[in-house]
Amino acid sequence: EEGERIAKIMARAGLCSRRDAETWIKEGRVSVNGKVLDTPAVNIHTKDKVLVDGAPLPVRERTRLWLYHKPKGLVTTTSDPEGRPTVFEKLPQGLPRVITVGRLDINTEGLLLLTNDGGLARVLELPTTGWLRRYRVRAYGRVTQAQLDTLADGIALEGVLYGSIDAQLEREVGDNVWITVALREGKNREVKKVLGHLGLDVNRLIRVSYGPFQLLDLDEGKVQEVRGRILRDQL
Ligand code: URA
Repeated sequence: EEGERIAKIMARAGLCSRRDAETWIKEGRVSVNGKVLDTPAVNIHTKDKVLVDGAPLPVRERTRLWLYHKPKGLVTTTSDPEGRPTVFEKLPQGLPRVITVGRLDINTEGLLLLTNDGGLARVLELPTTGWLRRYRVRAYGRVTQAQLDTLADGIALEGVLYGSIDAQLEREVGDNVWITVALREGKNREVKKVLGHLGLDVNRLIRVSYGPFQLLDLDEGKVQEVRGRILRDQL
């Protein structure tokens, strides 16, 4: 094992920047296996005991990711000024502290990713990540496939530019239509606004996938941890 530079290890533990680490070392604040360092030119191996100001390095938790089947009626925020119930109040017991990857509207159901890693959450919700988000939508009204096809070119509504949307008419049920929608961004109320523009009133919105992750038969209100290769491939 080659080991890694002490400054890199201190920075990764979230203590300080690499440059700070070098300063701290020169100030005599860092010891390895009981010996105070006087130079940052040291490689550290897993068996080495590093102390900074006499305390061991904090252990950064490994990145974890969960699928969550969000029920409708919950807001995706830690505290709601209107006092409505939040997803965080309803998550199953025993989860560590997590944040959500993006948000779903209060009445939207389905797949919401949860993670204990804020950096990962920010990356996964970026439009530049470009992940496909798929929804099953029920809407009041009538629409033709030809009308839905116009959404493929993107559309500007009230000054907001929405990217290409793939929308497939699945079936008509009573006064409603069911549509499958796929898009690569998550602007505020995007699906509702864009379908609303075609005269449809969305009354059920279920996210069924987000990038490589699928809701499948995960029960409402339940979480399922993503492990192994599929997680490593995304990190
Ligand atoms: N589009 C919406 O309109 N609402 C959501 O919650 C997600 C996508």
